[in-house]
Amino acid sequence: MFPQGSCFYVALLYLYQAQRHREYRQKIISNYQPLHRDIYSMHPSAFFVPTFLKAINDNTEESFRNIMSEPSPGVFTFEMFQPQFCKLLLSEVEHFEEWVNEVRFRIMRPNTMNKYGAVLDDFGLETMLDKLMEGFVRPISKVFFPEVGGSTLDSHHGFVVEYGKDRDVDLGFHVDDSEVTLNVCLGKQFSGGELFFRGTRCDKHVNTGTHSEEIFDYSHAPGRALLHRGRHRHGARATTSGHRINLLLWCRSSLFREMKKYQKDFSSWCGECLHEKKERQQQSVVATRSELLRREGESTA
Ligand SMILES: [Zn+2]
Repeated sequence: MFPQGSCFYVALLYLYQAQRHREYRQKIISNYQPLHRDIYSMHPSAFFVPTFLKAINDNTEESFRNIMSEPSPGVFTFEMFQPQFCKLLLSEVEHFEEWVNEVRFRIMRPNTMNKYGAVLDDFGLETMLDKLMEGFVRPISKVFFPEVGGSTLDSHHGFVVEYGKDRDVDLGFHVDDSEVTLNVCLGKQFSGGELFFRGTRCDKHVNTGTHSEEIFDYSHAPGRALLHRGRHRHGARATTSGHRINLLLWCRSSLFREMKKYQKDFSSWCGECLHEKKERQQQSVVATRSELLRREGESTA
């Protein structure tokens, strides 16, 4: 027996698209000559600042807290990349874009919202970024985001986005297709481009209002990383001058996505589920109290 009609064709389409994407990536990798081969494999001491490396090696909540600040619940910021690594990665991206223009290759953009930028996984950085997720993002996510699969992150989508003149200007309010997002500003000189956060939401509550304690704005600084849940709603204000380039690593957990299908209550991370749960609890306390008063009244009557 074949699976149900529509399901079967969706699966077929998915396989077809995956095959097309593999061919697309293969075509780039076999033709593009990297400029800085050093960044295509993981070299922690050359990539990261010593404070970050030490925290990862110690691998405790305390060691992470020591280098991080949490300016709003669920948003962590810390110094991550060395300036030299940011420079090399920026120049590699520029070199790739020059090649794309030279050979008139049509590239796929990072996501449905950004018209500029490039997918790093498509031109050879997939293995390095996998190591970045496994060795450096997952240990931190295991501590701070266990309720969204932080300890079981097993795939990623890595890309750069570019803002400024002749690039994208701003980015509308959205959630990422990730469990945990790493967002690192690589440079260069710019003003504006602040991120605004407005609370974490499940699918059902993604368009609900914002509670005042959920409002948080963040200004990027080169080299500095931001780590947050993918479902933490956010957007980017206009980059008003200069040129801003950020590295994005969307980290996903297949286990979490599978388990999510069987759950209805996401109060451990959705601000609105939690709000509803608290209201239900409050109502039941009121109901119990009035029931007790009623019984007391009956017994003294
Ligand atoms: Zn919810």
